[in-house]
Amino acid sequence: MPDGPTSPLVYKRVLLKVSGEALMGSQNYGIDLEVANRIAGEVAQAVNAGTEMCLVIGGGNIFRGLSGAAKGMDRAAADYMGMLATVMNALAMQSALEQVGIPTRVQSAIPMMSVCEPYIRRKAVRHMEKGRVVIFAAGSGNPFFTTDTAAALRAAEMGCDALFKGTQVDGVYSDDPRVNPNAKRYDHLNYLDILTQDLRVMDASAVTLMRENDIPIVVFNIHEGGGLARVLAGEGVRTVIGNAPSDTV
Ligand code: UDP
Repeated sequence: MPDGPTSPLVYKRVLLKVSGEALMGSQNYGIDLEVANRIAGEVAQAVNAGTEMCLVIGGGNIFRGLSGAAKGMDRAAADYMGMLATVMNALAMQSALEQVGIPTRVQSAIPMMSVCEPYIRRKAVRHMEKGRVVIFAAGSGNPFFTTDTAAALRAAEMGCDALFKGTQVDGVYSDDPRVNPNAKRYDHLNYLDILTQDLRVMDASAVTLMRENDIPIVVFNIHEGGGLARVLAGEGVRTVIGNAPSDTV
Protein backbone atom coordinates (compact mmCIF):
# COMPACT_ATOMS: atom_id res chain seq x y z
CA MET A 1 0.00 0.00 0.00
CA PRO A 2 1.61 3.32 -1.04
CA ASP A 3 2.01 6.01 1.58
CA GLY A 4 -0.84 8.49 1.91
CA PRO A 5 -0.24 12.24 1.67
CA THR A 6 0.99 14.12 4.72
CA SER A 7 0.36 17.73 3.59
CA PRO A 8 -2.92 19.67 3.79
CA LEU A 9 -4.98 19.86 0.62
CA VAL A 10 -3.81 22.27 -2.05
CA TYR A 11 -6.95 21.88 -4.14
CA LYS A 12 -10.31 21.98 -2.37
CA ARG A 13 -12.66 21.37 -5.30
CA VAL A 14 -11.48 19.47 -8.33
CA LEU A 15 -12.85 18.12 -11.58
CA LEU A 16 -11.22 14.84 -12.60
CA LYS A 17 -11.25 13.97 -16.30
CA VAL A 18 -10.67 10.33 -17.13
CA SER A 19 -10.68 9.15 -20.73
CA GLY A 20 -12.92 6.29 -21.74
CA GLU A 21 -9.80 4.41 -22.81
CA ALA A 22 -8.54 4.42 -19.22
CA LEU A 23 -11.57 2.27 -18.32
CA MET A 24 -10.69 -0.36 -20.92
CA GLY A 25 -7.74 -1.73 -18.98
CA SER A 26 -6.08 -4.36 -21.16
CA GLN A 27 -9.25 -4.98 -23.16
CA ASN A 28 -9.74 -3.65 -26.69
CA TYR A 29 -13.20 -2.32 -26.04
CA GLY A 30 -15.68 -1.52 -23.28
CA ILE A 31 -15.37 -1.30 -19.52
CA ASP A 32 -13.02 -3.35 -17.35
CA LEU A 33 -14.89 -3.24 -14.04
CA GLU A 34 -11.72 -3.98 -12.11
CA VAL A 35 -10.17 -0.80 -13.50
CA ALA A 36 -13.35 1.15 -12.72
CA ASN A 37 -13.19 -0.16 -9.14
CA ARG A 38 -9.54 0.84 -8.83
CA ILE A 39 -10.21 4.38 -10.07
CA ALA A 40 -13.21 4.57 -7.72
CA GLY A 41 -10.84 3.68 -4.87
CA GLU A 42 -8.58 6.59 -5.83
CA VAL A 43 -11.53 8.98 -5.90
CA ALA A 44 -12.83 7.65 -2.57
CA GLN A 45 -9.46 8.29 -0.94
CA ALA A 46 -9.56 11.89 -2.20
CA VAL A 47 -13.15 12.46 -1.05
CA ASN A 48 -12.44 10.96 2.37
CA ALA A 49 -9.50 13.37 2.71
CA GLY A 50 -11.96 16.27 2.25
CA THR A 51 -11.74 17.14 -1.46
CA GLU A 52 -14.96 18.05 -3.27
CA MET A 53 -14.85 16.00 -6.46
CA CYS A 54 -16.68 15.92 -9.75
CA LEU A 55 -15.87 13.70 -12.72
CA VAL A 56 -16.08 13.71 -16.48
CA ILE A 57 -15.48 10.37 -18.18
CA GLY A 58 -14.88 10.11 -21.92
CA GLY A 59 -16.48 7.59 -24.23
CA GLY A 60 -13.60 6.52 -26.46
CA ASN A 61 -13.69 2.94 -25.07
CA ILE A 62 -17.13 2.52 -26.65
CA PHE A 63 -17.67 5.00 -29.48
CA ARG A 64 -16.03 8.11 -30.91
CA GLY A 65 -17.93 10.43 -33.22
CA LEU A 66 -14.93 10.97 -35.46
CA SER A 67 -14.50 7.26 -36.21
CA GLY A 68 -18.20 6.96 -37.05
CA ALA A 69 -17.92 9.98 -39.35
CA ALA A 70 -14.81 8.49 -40.99
CA LYS A 71 -16.93 5.48 -41.96
CA GLY A 72 -19.55 7.69 -43.59
CA MET A 73 -21.93 8.44 -40.70
CA ASP A 74 -23.38 11.88 -40.24
CA ARG A 75 -20.92 13.55 -37.83
CA ALA A 76 -23.54 15.03 -35.53
CA ALA A 77 -25.38 11.70 -35.21
CA ALA A 78 -22.07 9.92 -34.53
CA ASP A 79 -21.20 12.49 -31.86
CA TYR A 80 -24.55 11.91 -30.15
CA MET A 81 -23.65 8.20 -30.03
CA GLY A 82 -20.32 9.14 -28.47
CA MET A 83 -22.11 11.21 -25.85
CA LEU A 84 -24.44 8.31 -25.06
CA ALA A 85 -21.36 6.12 -24.58
CA THR A 86 -20.16 8.45 -21.85
CA VAL A 87 -23.45 7.89 -20.00
CA MET A 88 -22.71 4.14 -19.81
CA ASN A 89 -19.26 4.87 -18.44
CA ALA A 90 -20.73 7.31 -15.92
CA LEU A 91 -23.21 4.70 -14.64
CA ALA A 92 -20.41 2.12 -14.32
CA MET A 93 -18.32 4.61 -12.33
CA GLN A 94 -21.30 5.57 -10.14
CA SER A 95 -21.81 1.92 -9.28
CA ALA A 96 -18.10 1.46 -8.51
CA LEU A 97 -18.05 4.57 -6.30
CA GLU A 98 -21.15 3.55 -4.39
CA GLN A 99 -19.64 0.13 -3.73
CA VAL A 100 -16.86 1.88 -1.83
CA GLY A 101 -19.37 3.98 0.11
CA ILE A 102 -19.14 7.27 -1.81
CA PRO A 103 -22.53 8.85 -2.52
CA THR A 104 -22.62 9.78 -6.20
CA ARG A 105 -24.99 11.54 -8.58
CA VAL A 106 -24.85 11.33 -12.36
CA GLN A 107 -26.01 14.45 -14.21
CA SER A 108 -26.45 14.22 -17.97
CA ALA A 109 -26.18 17.11 -20.41
CA ILE A 110 -28.75 15.22 -22.51
CA PRO A 111 -31.73 14.77 -20.18
CA MET A 112 -32.72 11.14 -19.59
CA MET A 113 -34.92 11.39 -16.56
CA SER A 114 -35.38 7.70 -15.82
CA VAL A 115 -31.62 7.07 -15.82
CA CYS A 116 -30.03 10.03 -14.03
CA GLU A 117 -30.48 13.68 -13.15
CA PRO A 118 -30.36 16.35 -15.84
CA TYR A 119 -27.43 18.74 -15.63
CA ILE A 120 -28.35 21.59 -13.27
CA ARG A 121 -25.35 23.67 -12.24
CA ARG A 122 -26.56 24.85 -8.85
CA LYS A 123 -27.74 21.37 -7.90
CA ALA A 124 -24.35 19.93 -8.84
CA VAL A 125 -22.58 22.46 -6.60
CA ARG A 126 -24.93 21.59 -3.73
CA HIS A 127 -24.23 17.85 -4.18
CA MET A 128 -20.50 18.49 -3.91
CA GLU A 129 -20.92 20.66 -0.84
CA LYS A 130 -22.73 17.71 0.76
CA GLY A 131 -19.78 15.41 0.00
CA ARG A 132 -21.33 13.69 -3.01
CA VAL A 133 -19.33 13.04 -6.13
CA VAL A 134 -21.03 14.37 -9.26
CA ILE A 135 -20.35 12.63 -12.56
CA PHE A 136 -21.13 14.78 -15.58
CA ALA A 137 -22.30 12.55 -18.42
CA ALA A 138 -23.06 13.17 -22.11
CA GLY A 139 -20.19 15.64 -22.49
CA SER A 140 -21.37 19.16 -23.18
CA GLY A 141 -24.56 17.91 -24.84
CA ASN A 142 -23.33 19.33 -28.16
CA PRO A 143 -21.84 17.51 -31.13
CA PHE A 144 -18.45 18.66 -32.52
CA PHE A 145 -17.03 18.84 -28.99
CA THR A 146 -14.96 16.42 -26.93
CA THR A 147 -15.15 15.40 -23.31
CA ASP A 148 -11.90 17.35 -22.68
CA THR A 149 -13.73 20.55 -23.56
CA ALA A 150 -16.79 19.43 -21.60
CA ALA A 151 -14.51 18.83 -18.59
CA ALA A 152 -13.02 22.32 -18.91
CA LEU A 153 -16.48 23.85 -19.20
CA ARG A 154 -17.80 22.07 -16.11
CA ALA A 155 -14.61 22.86 -14.15
CA ALA A 156 -15.19 26.55 -14.83
CA GLU A 157 -18.92 26.35 -14.06
CA MET A 158 -18.31 24.49 -10.78
CA GLY A 159 -15.66 26.97 -9.65
CA CYS A 160 -13.07 24.19 -9.41
CA ASP A 161 -9.55 24.98 -8.16
CA ALA A 162 -8.06 22.68 -10.78
CA LEU A 163 -8.84 20.39 -13.67
CA PHE A 164 -7.14 17.04 -13.08
CA LYS A 165 -6.40 15.00 -16.15
CA GLY A 166 -5.74 11.38 -15.24
CA THR A 167 -3.65 9.71 -17.95
CA GLN A 168 -1.54 6.59 -18.49
CA VAL A 169 1.71 8.50 -17.73
CA ASP A 170 2.68 10.70 -14.80
CA GLY A 171 2.72 14.07 -16.57
CA VAL A 172 3.69 15.84 -19.77
CA TYR A 173 7.04 14.84 -21.31
CA SER A 174 9.28 16.50 -23.87
CA ASP A 175 8.82 13.35 -25.98
CA ASP A 176 6.94 10.07 -25.70
CA PRO A 177 8.57 8.42 -22.62
CA ARG A 178 7.49 4.96 -23.82
CA VAL A 179 9.57 5.44 -26.98
CA ASN A 180 12.34 7.86 -25.98
CA PRO A 181 14.14 6.99 -22.68
CA ASN A 182 15.67 10.50 -22.63
CA ALA A 183 12.28 12.21 -22.57
CA LYS A 184 12.02 14.65 -19.62
CA ARG A 185 8.92 15.35 -17.59
CA TYR A 186 7.91 18.97 -17.08
CA ASP A 187 6.91 20.05 -13.56
CA HIS A 188 5.38 23.25 -14.91
CA LEU A 189 4.19 24.20 -18.36
CA ASN A 190 2.62 27.43 -19.53
CA TYR A 191 -0.79 27.23 -21.23
CA LEU A 192 0.57 29.06 -24.25
CA ASP A 193 3.37 26.53 -24.78
CA ILE A 194 0.83 23.73 -24.85
CA LEU A 195 -1.03 25.61 -27.57
CA THR A 196 1.90 26.85 -29.66
CA GLN A 197 3.94 23.62 -29.46
CA ASP A 198 0.84 21.53 -30.08
CA LEU A 199 1.66 19.34 -27.07
CA ARG A 200 -1.59 17.34 -27.38
CA VAL A 201 -2.28 17.05 -23.68
CA MET A 202 -5.82 18.29 -24.05
CA ASP A 203 -7.80 19.92 -26.85
CA ALA A 204 -6.83 23.49 -27.62
CA SER A 205 -10.36 24.66 -26.77
CA ALA A 206 -10.10 23.05 -23.31
CA VAL A 207 -6.69 24.62 -22.66
CA THR A 208 -7.91 28.03 -23.83
CA LEU A 209 -10.94 27.88 -21.55
CA MET A 210 -8.75 27.01 -18.57
CA ARG A 211 -6.31 29.80 -19.43
CA GLU A 212 -9.08 32.38 -19.69
CA ASN A 213 -10.43 31.30 -16.30
CA ASP A 214 -7.02 30.88 -14.67
CA ILE A 215 -7.69 27.27 -13.67
CA PRO A 216 -4.60 25.03 -13.60
CA ILE A 217 -4.61 21.70 -15.44
CA VAL A 218 -2.86 18.97 -13.48
CA VAL A 219 -1.71 15.94 -15.49
CA PHE A 220 -0.94 12.78 -13.49
CA ASN A 221 -1.04 8.99 -13.69
CA ILE A 222 -4.52 7.72 -12.80
CA HIS A 223 -3.28 4.12 -12.54
CA GLU A 224 -0.73 4.73 -9.77
CA GLY A 225 -2.11 3.68 -6.36
CA GLY A 226 -2.65 6.68 -4.05
CA GLY A 227 -1.43 9.04 -6.79
CA LEU A 228 -4.57 11.20 -6.93
CA ALA A 229 -4.56 11.87 -3.18
CA ARG A 230 -0.84 12.69 -3.19
CA VAL A 231 -1.15 15.12 -6.09
CA LEU A 232 -4.16 16.74 -4.42
CA ALA A 233 -1.97 17.39 -1.40
CA GLY A 234 0.67 19.00 -3.61
CA GLU A 235 2.92 15.95 -3.39
CA GLY A 236 3.41 13.25 -5.97
CA VAL A 237 4.51 13.28 -9.56
CA ARG A 238 2.60 15.48 -11.98
CA THR A 239 2.78 18.33 -14.47
CA VAL A 240 0.95 21.55 -13.64
CA ILE A 241 -0.15 23.63 -16.63
CA GLY A 242 -0.78 27.22 -15.67
CA ASN A 243 0.40 30.81 -16.04
CA ALA A 244 3.93 30.18 -14.68
CA PRO A 245 6.71 29.92 -17.28
CA SER A 246 7.46 26.44 -18.59
CA ASP A 247 10.45 24.53 -17.20
CA THR A 248 13.42 24.23 -19.48
CA VAL A 249 14.10 20.52 -19.89
N1 UDP B 1 -18.84 14.13 -27.65
C1 UDP B 1 -19.54 15.17 -28.21
N2 UDP B 1 -19.70 16.32 -27.48
C2 UDP B 1 -19.16 16.49 -26.24
C3 UDP B 1 -18.40 15.44 -25.70
C4 UDP B 1 -18.25 14.26 -26.41
O1 UDP B 1 -20.04 15.08 -29.32
O2 UDP B 1 -19.34 17.57 -25.63
C5 UDP B 1 -18.74 12.83 -28.37
C6 UDP B 1 -17.66 12.79 -29.46
O3 UDP B 1 -18.16 12.03 -30.53
C7 UDP B 1 -16.54 12.04 -28.79
C8 UDP B 1 -17.29 11.04 -27.93
O4 UDP B 1 -18.42 11.79 -27.47
O5 UDP B 1 -15.72 11.38 -29.73
C9 UDP B 1 -16.51 10.46 -26.78
O6 UDP B 1 -15.80 11.47 -26.11
P1 UDP B 1 -14.18 11.61 -26.18
O7 UDP B 1 -13.72 11.20 -27.53
O8 UDP B 1 -13.85 12.97 -25.70
O9 UDP B 1 -13.76 10.50 -25.12
P2 UDP B 1 -12.30 10.11 -24.56
O10 UDP B 1 -11.30 10.33 -25.66
O11 UDP B 1 -12.02 11.01 -23.40
O12 UDP B 1 -12.47 8.69 -24.14
